[in-house]
Amino acid sequence: MLNIIPIPAFQDNYLWLIENGINATVVDPGDAAPVIAALKKRSLKLTNILITHHHADHIGGVDALIAKYSPQVYAPEKEQYSFSRIPVHEGQLIEIKDLDVSFNVMDVGGHTNGHVAYYGANSLFCGDTLFGAGCGRLFEGTPAQMFASLQKIAKLPVETAVYCAHEYTEHNLQFAKTVEKDNPTLIERIRLARKLRDANLPTIPSSILLELATNPFLRCSSPEIMSSLDLQHADEIQIFTTLRQMRNQF
Ligand code: ZN
Ligand code: FE
Repeated sequence: MLNIIPIPAFQDNYLWLIENGINATVVDPGDAAPVIAALKKRSLKLTNILITHHHADHIGGVDALIAKYSPQVYAPEKEQYSFSRIPVHEGQLIEIKDLDVSFNVMDVGGHTNGHVAYYGANSLFCGDTLFGAGCGRLFEGTPAQMFASLQKIAKLPVETAVYCAHEYTEHNLQFAKTVEKDNPTLIERIRLARKLRDANLPTIPSSILLELATNPFLRCSSPEIMSSLDLQHADEIQIFTTLRQMRNQF
């Protein structure tokens, strides 16, 4: 039986802890202290670290965790890291034996060029690629690259739980409303997200189903979005590019 626990860090990061009561894997440990505290509280041993991309808020705790627990570290092949790690790439299967789970690696470049996501146990750990009702900024990649990455994610089973690395959902939903105000599922999601945040609960995980229904970056062919942007005859990548630029200013 696997548990997936959010460890809040910094302003709005979630470091995800995957554990079975004995061993644990952590995804994107940007900070070591809250991870160590969570492991101690549950008497868990950290055996693996999964890294989605090279930004400091995702790897800042790796060195300290290696020093303390000597876990196996997996990180994207296309990126440079100061710590030693097992390089991973599209299509690779990572077996985490002590949790009895395996993850498929997906290349999802865009936020960074080498960004990967990990898919397993009906869950997707996608770092800063797909967010609740939004997507990551394009620091290194092109809009077309990010669009293709999001399309790849969108084809996962609809029941897949989506574990992203930041609590950006409410702000993303406010933006989504400006381009698709008549989407009833979106309006309902805004209400629900407010309720969760008021109770100091995460809006994550979401699901592929919910993202398909409400995330404007997965809805580039929505007639309402196209007409909001006054781009009725544009292709989906043009819509995506425009949405991303608008969101940068929002
Ligand atoms: Zn990032
Ligand atoms: Fe980040």
